[in-house]
Amino acid sequence: NRRYRKTIIAGNWKMNKTATETKQFAEELKPILPKAKWCDVVVCVPACNISTAVRAFKDMRVSIGAENLYYEKSGAYTGEVSADMLKDLGVKYVIIGHSERRQYFGETDATVSKKVHAALDAGLLPIICVGESLEQREAGITAEWIALQVKSALVGVSADKLRKCVIAYEPIWAIGTGKTATAEQAAEVCTAIRATIRSLYGARVARSVTIQYGGSMNPSNAAELLAQPDVDGGLIGGAALVPQKFVDIINAAN
Ligand code: PGA
Repeated sequence: NRRYRKTIIAGNWKMNKTATETKQFAEELKPILPKAKWCDVVVCVPACNISTAVRAFKDMRVSIGAENLYYEKSGAYTGEVSADMLKDLGVKYVIIGHSERRQYFGETDATVSKKVHAALDAGLLPIICVGESLEQREAGITAEWIALQVKSALVGVSADKLRKCVIAYEPIWAIGTGKTATAEQAAEVCTAIRATIRSLYGARVARSVTIQYGGSMNPSNAAELLAQPDVDGGLIGGAALVPQKFVDIINAAN
């Protein structure tokens, strides 16, 4: 699979760490970070700490990601940050449509779609999050729901642009709960996501897209999850806040 697509291990720091703590993390990571030829390493940090992170991780094989953006180019949107602003700071990736943003900040499939286009237009690589709730899983509608989220997020995205997109499958019931999806559950949905992409763009494009799993991924379950054929990386919250745990997960991707 690595012949066709990148493996990407990305930390999602959420609303954690000050600028000072960002520098401390980078200093602790530096001596233990593996060469990681087998995967790309990304750290997604709060917007206010992006400049600090870009500087702190400069000499490491670590790309910086943002956790959100606003889809308008510029203007009277108090408190928001545009794709161009992120790009100009040296950001490479941006998380879009994380379930916490959908749940607490009113994001919908429609706003996610606009944000995906804004990111791509600015030359950022979107990490598009999809995932079902526990109620949806128990009702047996996971497959339909995920297919709908993927299709909505990719409306109007060309095949060329799709190659720049990462999809992160994050079952909501697994996020921050310590309740990881089993490798089989993760594999089943990630394979279904690739099938959805194949139905829209064809097999060649579909096999080039990186699909991550996220939700309580940690050093003890990462290897099994990452060994699944359609699981091409991880989006990691809690465990990515600790340098040694983050490194253990990077090593598990090898
Ligand atoms: P978690 O978060 O690893 O703490 O469950 C994952 C995420 O929300 O991206």
